[in-house]
Amino acid sequence: MAKVTFIGVGNMGGPMAINLIKAGHEVTAVDLVAENLEKLKTEGAKVAHSAAEVMADTEVVISMLPAGQHVKAVYGKDVFPHAKSGTLLIDCSTIDVDSAREVQSLATEAGFPMVDAPVSGGVGGAAAGTLTFMIGGEDDAYAAAEPFLQIMGETLVHCGGAGNGQAAKICNNMMLGIQMISVAEAFALGEKLGLSHQKLFDVSSTASGQCWSLTTYCPVPEMVPTSPANNDYKPGFASALMLKDLRLAQAAAESTGAVTPLGEHAERLYEEFSESGGAGVDFSGIIKMLREI
Ligand code: NAD
Repeated sequence: MAKVTFIGVGNMGGPMAINLIKAGHEVTAVDLVAENLEKLKTEGAKVAHSAAEVMADTEVVISMLPAGQHVKAVYGKDVFPHAKSGTLLIDCSTIDVDSAREVQSLATEAGFPMVDAPVSGGVGGAAAGTLTFMIGGEDDAYAAAEPFLQIMGETLVHCGGAGNGQAAKICNNMMLGIQMISVAEAFALGEKLGLSHQKLFDVSSTASGQCWSLTTYCPVPEMVPTSPANNDYKPGFASALMLKDLRLAQAAAESTGAVTPLGEHAERLYEEFSESGGAGVDFSGIIKMLREI
C-alpha cells in the first residue's frame, strides 16, 4: 500500500481521497480549509497544512485543485523542491491545457513521472468511485497511475501525451454545453408551436436529434428519471462549472488558432445565465433563460 498525499480535499477531492483510504492506502490530506481536513481526519487520513511538510514521506501525490494557477503554485513551490526522486504525480484538477503541459514538462525535467487526469462524473461519481478519467502523459507514468485511478474511477482513457487529458475534457464539455443549449432551444421552440414535451421527446429520442443531453439529462421535467429538471434544476453539474470549462475551451481555441464559433456562443450564453443568478443552478436550467430572451 502506498503513502499518498492528496492536495485539495474539497467537494471532489474529499470523496476521492476517502476511496483511497478505504482501499488501504495511507493518505495525508492537504487543504487550506480546516473543516475539509477535519472531515478527512475522521475518515482515517493524516492531515497537513502544506504539501512541502510531508513530501519526504510521500510516494504518490494526487491533486484536485480549482484552477491552473493553484496547480502551478502548489507543484512549483511545495512539490518539486521537496518530493523524493521518482515520486508519482497525478493532477486530477480541470485546468487549461497550456498550464497542464507546462507543469508536466517541469515534472519530467525534474525526473518525476506525471499525468494530467481530469474527471467527469461529478460529486456523485467521486463518492461512488465511478468517475471517468481522461489521462495525458507518457506510457510509464500512465501505467504507474492506473492502479490509483482505478480505485477512484470506473472508466480510464489514456488520451496521449502531456495535457491530452485536459484537451479531451474541454473538447467533450464544449460539445456538451452546445448540445444542451440545442436541446433546450428545441423544447422552448416546441412549446411555442404547441408541441408537448412528451411528443418531442418520443420523436427526437429515437430520431436524429438523439443525444445525451436529451436522453439522460433532458432539460424539461418528467422525460427521464436522471434529469435535474425533475428536481428544480438542483445540480448535478452547476452552470458555473460549465462556464469554467467553456472558458478553458475558448482559451485553448485562442492558443491554437482553432475556430469554434458555437463554443464561443455557448460560453457567452452560460456567462449571461451565470451572471443573472444561474451560477448555482444545474446547467440544464439554461432553458429558463432561453425561454425569456
Ligand atoms: P472545491 O473548491 O470544493 O475544492 C478545491 C479544494 O482545493 C478546496 O478545498 C480548496 O481549499 C483547496 N485548495 C485551493 N488552493 C489550495 C492550495 N494552495 N493548497 C491546498 N488546497 C488548496 O472544488 P471541487 O468542486 O472539488 O473541484 C475541484 C476540481 O475538480 C476543479 O478543477 C473542478 O473544475 C473539477 N471538477 C469538479 C466537478 C464537480 O462537479 N464539482 C466535476 C468535474 C471536475
